[in-house]
Amino acid sequence: MEHKFDLIVVGCGIAGLATAVSAAESGLKVAVLERATIEDRGGNTRWTEALMRMKNETEVADDLEDHFMANSGFHLDPSLVQEAGDSNENRSAIVRSLGFTDPELISTLSSEAGKALTWLKKFGITYSDMPTYLITQSTTRLMPVGGGWALVEALVKAGENLGVKFFYETTAVKLIQSEDGTVCGLQASSNQTRSIRFMGKVMLACGGFEGNQEMQALYYGAKSRYIRPIARGGYYNKGEGIKMALGIGAAPCGDFSEYHAEPIDPRSGQPEPIVFVFPYGILVTTAGKRFIDEASNTVDAIYENIARLINELPGGVSYVICDQKLDLVPNWQRTVRSDQKPITADTIEELANKLGIPSAQLVETVAQYNKATKKGNFKPLELDGLCTEGLTPPKSNWALPIDQGPYRAWPISSANCFTFGGLRCNSNAQVLDTDGRPISGLYAAGETMGLYYGKYTGATSVMRGLVFGRLAGQHAAQK
Ligand SMILES: Cc1cc2nc3c(=O)[nH]c(=O)nc-3n(C[C@H](O)[C@H](O)[C@H](O)COP(=O)(O)OP(=O)(O)OC[C@H]3O[C@@H](n4cnc5c(N)ncnc54)[C@H](O)[C@@H]3O)c2cc1C
Repeated sequence: MEHKFDLIVVGCGIAGLATAVSAAESGLKVAVLERATIEDRGGNTRWTEALMRMKNETEVADDLEDHFMANSGFHLDPSLVQEAGDSNENRSAIVRSLGFTDPELISTLSSEAGKALTWLKKFGITYSDMPTYLITQSTTRLMPVGGGWALVEALVKAGENLGVKFFYETTAVKLIQSEDGTVCGLQASSNQTRSIRFMGKVMLACGGFEGNQEMQALYYGAKSRYIRPIARGGYYNKGEGIKMALGIGAAPCGDFSEYHAEPIDPRSGQPEPIVFVFPYGILVTTAGKRFIDEASNTVDAIYENIARLINELPGGVSYVICDQKLDLVPNWQRTVRSDQKPITADTIEELANKLGIPSAQLVETVAQYNKATKKGNFKPLELDGLCTEGLTPPKSNWALPIDQGPYRAWPISSANCFTFGGLRCNSNAQVLDTDGRPISGLYAAGETMGLYYGKYTGATSVMRGLVFGRLAGQHAAQK
């Protein structure tokens, strides 16, 4: 069986839908292949609040570019970094194909984000800066009303109105190239057949590999065994897009050894069952010992690092211990999305027994911590500098003693929100080969496009999919 289109988009999340709608607006005949059922369509995008690192609807947050550049790679060769300041055509093949956060992409993300947000309004999207689960934060964020689900619904409808054809339960398997290497289609499988050919240019917008345990074990090693996707949508992202493109000579980009980590309650089957109360308590290992400053900064700035560290602990789990003074924090309930109740006990010893932690050690840990706290002004919604003295590791803010039972604890594990490793692309989202040349006919956007190193520049993954998907759709129509 063979279908002919101008553009075949793989994936029905924000990146795929932005591509499909912008290409269809430019007059292209577009197909979207989605491996999920119609009810489950939308990948990770369907489950996110879709926070966007914006100052307002037209300008990105003040710190967006600096944050990306501070996390662009590790020990990069300064001579290559200097060359990266030049436009892509003037760069050497080494820089064009280098795995790092390309400043050209960040500049495009920054200049195009406002236009992309405005474009979405055409399809009925509105924005809000309503309070979120981040009760303290270090930057500005907006979100579309209705979150990622609203984006998926609005863009599917817009696509259908523009004649985009959606093929659900259809999985892209293999790229097809013409004799000169141009990507001219792909092979897919469905419930009816293992081989349908879709001919046309190809956009790979099929997520990362958070739904593929084998790839995570290969890239992350043993620590991958404790990680799971943060919501149902991630299970569909099995890395085929990345593998297919690497298989025909695409350059990798994005940190293949890291993922965007979030601390969750492993007992909960809710989407994104985060536990963000740790700045107001202490975190301990299964041996009952502290291992990190729980409050070195606002929660949005530290939760990823903490979740990554938890992943490295024995059993990939930690416990946050709080006392009744947690109730001094207004709306702390917003920061816990688990549907499971905390484990409670009247004494620390009893709590330890319930958690299966050596009780003498936990009693000792809490006593040492309490001894290191000092009097001061507790201001739960801002960095208050109420820190411990003479304790290792220290706690830098919100360090009230834990002495008022009943005590409560939540287990925390590390969830994989999305993977960082992907494909090297230019600002039109064309996939580049290992010599930095565009692979004709092939685009990638969203998680499939590699961009992140080090610390995730929070609230930019939906924007990345939206901005580069939209640009790819326009580019595919020009050439
Ligand atoms: C709970 C949660 C909260 C988040 N919070 C935020 C946030 O606030 N802000 C932010 O910026 N980011 C956030 N993220 C991350 C962000 O939502 C995602 O990284 C982004 O939406 C990914 O978009 P995408 O289009 O690249 O991939 P997805 O939305 O995952 O879409 C990929 C699609 O491809 C399909 N697919 C996969 N493989 C194939 C194949 N071989 N053939 C056919 N179809 C295939 C999948 O079924 C899926 O529908 C969050 C993610 C989650 C899950």
